[in-house]
Amino acid sequence: AMFEGLSEKLQATFKRLKGKGKLTEADVNEAMREVRVALLEADVNFKVVKDLIAKIKERAVGQEVLESLTPGQHVIKIVNEEMVAMMGGSESKLAISSKPPTVVMLVGLQGAGKTTHGAKLANMLKKQGKHPLLVACDIYRPAAIKQLQVLGEQIKVPVFSLGQENPVKIAGESLDYAGKNGHDTVIIDTAGRLHINEELMGELEDIKAVVQPHEILLVVDAMTGQDAVNVAETFNSKLALSGVILSKLDGDTRGGAAISVRSVTGCPIKYAGVGEKMDALEVFYPDRMVSRILGMGDVLTLIEKAQNAFDDKKAKELEEKIRKQELTLDDFLDQINQLRKMGSLSSVLEMIPGIGKQLKDVQIDDKEFARVEAMIQSMTVEERTRPAVIKDSRKKRIARGSGTSVQDVGKLIKQYEQTKKMMKQMSGLPGMGGPPKSGK
Ligand code: GDP
Repeated sequence: AMFEGLSEKLQATFKRLKGKGKLTEADVNEAMREVRVALLEADVNFKVVKDLIAKIKERAVGQEVLESLTPGQHVIKIVNEEMVAMMGGSESKLAISSKPPTVVMLVGLQGAGKTTHGAKLANMLKKQGKHPLLVACDIYRPAAIKQLQVLGEQIKVPVFSLGQENPVKIAGESLDYAGKNGHDTVIIDTAGRLHINEELMGELEDIKAVVQPHEILLVVDAMTGQDAVNVAETFNSKLALSGVILSKLDGDTRGGAAISVRSVTGCPIKYAGVGEKMDALEVFYPDRMVSRILGMGDVLTLIEKAQNAFDDKKAKELEEKIRKQELTLDDFLDQINQLRKMGSLSSVLEMIPGIGKQLKDVQIDDKEFARVEAMIQSMTVEERTRPAVIKDSRKKRIARGSGTSVQDVGKLIKQYEQTKKMMKQMSGLPGMGGPPKSGK
């Protein structure tokens, strides 16, 4: 999985920290030593690690932390905040020109995923209601133009190409074409090379001069770790990048590039590629990434998924019921079905703080859901609304009706009671009173 080793090591360190009632300066130093080793092993740039540790230490050995009631939590919070700050804080949006078209130039080494990401980005923008145009300026790699055309067809975005014509000329003419055909965004796929060389940089500078892009995004392969960071530095010094697209993050088990690119180059990571398919592109959120690494759960992603899965009216009704403590087994079934819509239960639970790790090797059986559903459907309306009436003889009947055992029915009722209790507690927490609010 993504960043697995780093995540496990940091979480082990944090667990030890949390386990201590009081922290001494030596405890903090020891924890920071472990954090440093974990980051270096994840291939994070050593200077970045050094600065980060210095900043965390400075804050973590303060009196306020050492004397607080939960010093371990305090330190973890500081690590989280400093890592997020180092990675650029919140997400960096794509610049949109007030005078269309917005011109996005994609650059990068061969094989980094430039062509794929040009198409992925066009696909994402199209879904947001934009009218992108893809431009084929990689005239050297024989299959590149064809590849872009195939992808363009797949996502139904037109591709502007003049064959093997001079790339500077193609880029320039594509803007006229976009203007005449109502395209508000132009995405230019440029040529790559196996290594950085003068000729390539010269060509990219010429294209830049002609199209005056609003964005120059470098596509780098996350799996190449520190090499990706070095490539970003070089491209940035020649072209003044506006951002980075980190490709192949799905295959990145270490995380070095994702963590250090911003800090070394000053360029924000704007998007991450997480697969070969056209929809495998994500806006890069440093804060969410860090929570994931630190095992704090990607609660925001979860909420966003929930927003897509939950229907607003139902959520409001549920909130009301929880408040009045009227949750029935029918609601319980509804809840489970809503959860299922969010994806496999294990993938959902993985995002909840503290649960992810325990579940790593647990297989959650979808059949279990079907059994729960069958049991609830074998109950009378009264039993569903007031499960307290379900005593032994009723349990037997329900078990028979649903092809389960009395123990299964007992277990379900217990789970329902627990859920009810948990929801009652949750509704008492600030901001947890109800369904996720939409918008930002
Ligand atoms: P280019 O030479 O920079 O244009 O690179 P391509 O767009 O042709 O991509 C090179 C290879 O990487 C292709 O096989 C892509 O399918 C693959 N690829 C691109 N992005 C991703 C990604 O985010 N995840 C994975 N797993 N593969 C990717």
